[in-house]
Amino acid sequence: MLLRAALRTSRLSSLASAQRRLASSLVFLEHKNGKLNDSSLNAVTAAQTLGSDTAGIVVGSKSDVDGVLEEVKKIDGLTKIYTAASDDYAHALAENVAPLLASVLPAKNISHLFAAHTAVGKNVFPRLAGILDSSMIADIVALESSGDVFTRPIYAGNAILKIKSSPKDAIKIVTVRTTAFDKAKTGGGSATVEEVEAKSGDSTTKYVSEELTISSRPDLSSASRVVSGGRALKSQENFNKILDPLADALGAAVGASRAAVDAGYADNSLQVGQTGKVVAPELYVAAGISGAIQHLAGMKESKLIVAINKDADAPIFQVADVGLVADLFEAVPELTKKIESAKA
Ligand code: FAD
Repeated sequence: MLLRAALRTSRLSSLASAQRRLASSLVFLEHKNGKLNDSSLNAVTAAQTLGSDTAGIVVGSKSDVDGVLEEVKKIDGLTKIYTAASDDYAHALAENVAPLLASVLPAKNISHLFAAHTAVGKNVFPRLAGILDSSMIADIVALESSGDVFTRPIYAGNAILKIKSSPKDAIKIVTVRTTAFDKAKTGGGSATVEEVEAKSGDSTTKYVSEELTISSRPDLSSASRVVSGGRALKSQENFNKILDPLADALGAAVGASRAAVDAGYADNSLQVGQTGKVVAPELYVAAGISGAIQHLAGMKESKLIVAINKDADAPIFQVADVGLVADLFEAVPELTKKIESAKA
């Protein structure tokens, strides 16, 4: 009796591990101008939690795919890189890329497809999930190694939801909150490359042009230091005159509250929060930001939060590690001067 139970348990566990071995993950590797978007490295780490084979897929114009290929082949832990090169896939237009992924995945025995929860991931993956009639599992901060339980924040990060994906979903379509996973290491990988048939899309959606905000500062989403300003800055000129020098002194990216963006003081791409970017830098300086929950949703995981606000009761002080009750128009330039002279 005991022996039969033991045999059954061992058969079940070997079945489970065989199923795990069969599972394999694919990471959608984002790139621009022949350079890998760093956020994809966080998605690779999330995929590797499953302990199964992990491959990557690069989709884009021929020149973009060729440009990024050497870099992605070296990502540690990726065994294979699939490529699909065609002008139809340039600029990651969801209308063209999602049908391509939908046609490639079933033949490759993929159990999980991951992407970073970036503008591209948020655009392509829900469309793909729709085509595959699968659930969209968005913005996860953790996953269990079984591969069917995922954790994601909801209500601007005020509650944490655990989702068990439906067994009917043959392929789990998952986007990853990049700040929740370390970046996969690069340099040690030696993935093989397999070209997949890149069918021409019949989409009526065409790329026309884009306007880019060029900045010499670090990218806001991945910067290790961020200096953000709020409505209290009162104008775009003040943003540039008061915040930029502090950001320059710290080698930081500049961010903004939605109120500052809505008032036209800062570009939309700089918004931090529930409807903006989610950041978790080593240092986050909030100047003249009240600390509304929607703003906190985008920065409260920062390692060290410094708040400058003239209202001692401002909610931002509840999450701040260092609080300065002061007028930012005096405090920020003084702080900048001190940092510059300490560096000299
Ligand atoms: P305010 O709330 O007006 O705060 C200004 C602060 O500056 C005050 O605390 C004041 O004491 C201080 N201050 C004034 N003068 C000075 C001075 N001279 N020196 C120092 N301090 C001074 N907000 C976001 O930021 N990101 C989001 O992604 C976002 N998404 C949203 C989504 C939804 C659905 C909704 C409803 C709202 C969202 N908001 C978001 C808006 C959010 O609720 C707040 O309105 C916004 O964050 C306030 O911005 P603020 O702190 O700059 O402005």
